[in-house]
Amino acid sequence: MKPADPRDITIIGGGPVGLFAAFYAGMRGVSCRIVDSLPELGGQLTALYPEKYVYDVGGFARISARDLARNMIEQGLQFGAEVRLEEQVQDLIREDSGFTLTTDLGRYPTRAVVIAGGKGAFAPRYLECPGYDRLLGRGVSYHVKDPALYQGKSILVVGGGDSAVDWALSLKDHTRRLILIHRREGFRAHAHSMALLQRAVEAGTVELLTHKEVREIHGGDCVTAVTIFDNRTNEEMRFEIDVVLALIGFKPDLGPMARWGLELQKNSIKVGPAMQTNITGVYAVGDICTYEGKLELIATGFGEACIAVNHAVHAINPAARYNPGHSTNLKIFKDREAAESAAGVAAAD
Ligand SMILES: Cc1cc2nc3c(=O)[nH]c(=O)nc-3n(C[C@H](O)[C@H](O)[C@H](O)COP(=O)(O)OP(=O)(O)OC[C@H]3O[C@@H](n4cnc5c(N)ncnc54)[C@H](O)[C@@H]3O)c2cc1C
Repeated sequence: MKPADPRDITIIGGGPVGLFAAFYAGMRGVSCRIVDSLPELGGQLTALYPEKYVYDVGGFARISARDLARNMIEQGLQFGAEVRLEEQVQDLIREDSGFTLTTDLGRYPTRAVVIAGGKGAFAPRYLECPGYDRLLGRGVSYHVKDPALYQGKSILVVGGGDSAVDWALSLKDHTRRLILIHRREGFRAHAHSMALLQRAVEAGTVELLTHKEVREIHGGDCVTAVTIFDNRTNEEMRFEIDVVLALIGFKPDLGPMARWGLELQKNSIKVGPAMQTNITGVYAVGDICTYEGKLELIATGFGEACIAVNHAVHAINPAARYNPGHSTNLKIFKDREAAESAAGVAAAD
């Protein structure tokens, strides 16, 4: 397979943090390529919760994850970063000039690597009960792609974390019946969401059952019913339902990256203060990296991307300062604005 044109920086993962890294690479004037295994950019924002609102990203009092991803893509690709989608990076090969990253479809030479791989390959936790595999995609789902598909349906939501509670709250007003079950008494969801859930239960829009687990999902071509059981008494209950939404989390799975010789802590990549991994020239940012005090938030990932890319730029070209300066004063933007206003004048003439 003929290698692609080399890039200064290759970013593994086109989620919010990878996209911000691409923006920074472009702003610093280095070439960049993003490789992502999913069919669209945006990472968890577009794959897991496009309809939800995000409230804790600077500059937006409230923005849907889909709109945030759209803005991030516009900002991240403005300097022409190349994007390779539906390609999972398999290997990291060290070369004299840097590295080559390989996928099933390509070989990508690069001088530095920024890993922004989030939770790695998305590996949802499955319900281990009869009917789950057979009816997956036919009424059984582990994520909400399009809430409109649940309109007027009877739904069983399974889980006790933010995803399960938030989706139960978002969907309840549009469904015929919404039952939320959790295998314990205590929930991991935020206190505010739990207060809203309590109100929905009191209003009768959500039926909440704790200490319950799914025993079997029934149906021929699609889901028609489910049997659940009480894990204290083993008592069974059967509900006629159309959808089982199993939001019981994702297994962190680094996939091929686990065998690259990176220093790992559980399923995260350990980094130093410049977001550098134990392999010189390979940086890790966003949900996939860990250090003391790490927070898995979009806001912290932005800062990490900025630090990683600026250090990578300096490592690639020691004459380039690692401090980028303020964007308000950067020549790259002033030149572009001058060109745009000259084009505007020419068009008006
Ligand atoms: C329901 C929910 C609500 C959330 N709400 C908030 C919130 O309100 N505020 C907040 O700050 N955070 C929130 N988060 C967390 C936030 O989404 C993550 O912190 C953020 O997405 C991390 O961004 P990232 O770019 O590091 O990784 P991701 O968004 O996970 O993107 C990583 C990308 O890397 C790709 N990838 C992985 N391995 C490979 C490989 N080998 N080859 C190619 N591609 C690969 C994946 O396909 C993925 O697209 C929420 C998360 C969930 C699930």
